[in-house]
Amino acid sequence: MMSDWTSLGKVACRVMRQTPARLLWKFAWNFGWRNLWNMHAFEKRQKRGEEFYPAFNMISVTETCNLACSGCWVTAGGKKRLSVKQIDGIINDSKRHGSYFFGILGGEPLMYDGLMDIFKKHKDCYFQLFTNATMLTDEIAMQLREAGNVTPLISIEGLEDESDRRRQRSEVYKRTLRGVRACRKAGLIFGVAASICQSNYKELVSREHIERVAKEGAAYLWYYIYRPVGADAHPENALTKEQIRGLREFLIEERRDAPVVLVDVYWDEKGKAMCPGATGMSHHVSPSGALEFCPVIQMATDFLNEDASNMTELYKKSDYLKSMREDVANATRGCILMDNPQLMVKLLEKHPVKETTSRQTAMEEYKAMLSVAGHDMGEEALPEKSAPYRWLKKNYFFGFGAYG
Ligand code: SF4
Repeated sequence: MMSDWTSLGKVACRVMRQTPARLLWKFAWNFGWRNLWNMHAFEKRQKRGEEFYPAFNMISVTETCNLACSGCWVTAGGKKRLSVKQIDGIINDSKRHGSYFFGILGGEPLMYDGLMDIFKKHKDCYFQLFTNATMLTDEIAMQLREAGNVTPLISIEGLEDESDRRRQRSEVYKRTLRGVRACRKAGLIFGVAASICQSNYKELVSREHIERVAKEGAAYLWYYIYRPVGADAHPENALTKEQIRGLREFLIEERRDAPVVLVDVYWDEKGKAMCPGATGMSHHVSPSGALEFCPVIQMATDFLNEDASNMTELYKKSDYLKSMREDVANATRGCILMDNPQLMVKLLEKHPVKETTSRQTAMEEYKAMLSVAGHDMGEEALPEKSAPYRWLKKNYFFGFGAYG
């Protein structure tokens, strides 16, 4: 039987064969090496009790999107956006703290004019572009190849019918696949992501889906768990406790010989739950310039100025973020939003928080939420079975602070 290391080695060889050397080098250096040091520096800061700065900043550049997915937390039709000056400021500030990796989210980030120039300007960084890929043409893919420092993470929320239903537009699956193929043609290192819910569980939590994604040339497949948030939340579509356990079992079994890297941000090598916000590993900058605990908790007390030159100071002084990290960690190892939304409201109300969305109804939405099953399995935690994933998760956590 193939060893776990051999099977992961095979994925690496496939990706190396399909990717130009320059892009591989950028990935190895900007993403691999720099992230290793960044994580190390972050842990050292935390241990020594030095001034707080997260290991990673996730940046939502715009609220604008060309789809209208049900259950999305971003305001449909919202127009808020960060300025280029602010994005530049965020990146430069992060670099000063040794952080060179950024998740770029939206809305749909490809609707943000000037994004390519930002990628090209910060050649020493690495960006993960969270996109629905319906705008990812051959031309855009070639521009990303030219930049060399971007990995698109393409969301596929289901096959033909489910994609159209969930994303409330027609032919979304077909259009997304066109984007996937453009990435492959351009030799990009890219991944596919899905937010798993009741309605897509069967078709996406399957060996067929893993093989389909590998055949399309993706290097990694990222599983999220659906959070019923936003103006159009669907708690009935959230996973049950048994399904979450099923997803975890599926991941640890498939990791032993999957033809793609399987990523999650929920469990450490022992299968213990984790929350990137509570660990301080990452926080989120919203399109309104707010520093948020994480993208789905759309409240803040701290706002960037016009060139984000106050960012270090805001992190240093934010009572809100500090107390959220502590209070959430005390309340749960999992996701406070799923486990105990009413407690979350109380924690938010301890501070003079402002809502950061265009719709201005988020607090009411949180107040109306009921608990749903979360990823904390307590004593029933399932440790990783695959040796390389165990090692990677222990020494080199590769969710890199992306929201849960
Ligand atoms: S979504 Fe939940 S688990 Fe993820 S960072 Fe936010 S609070 Fe933590």
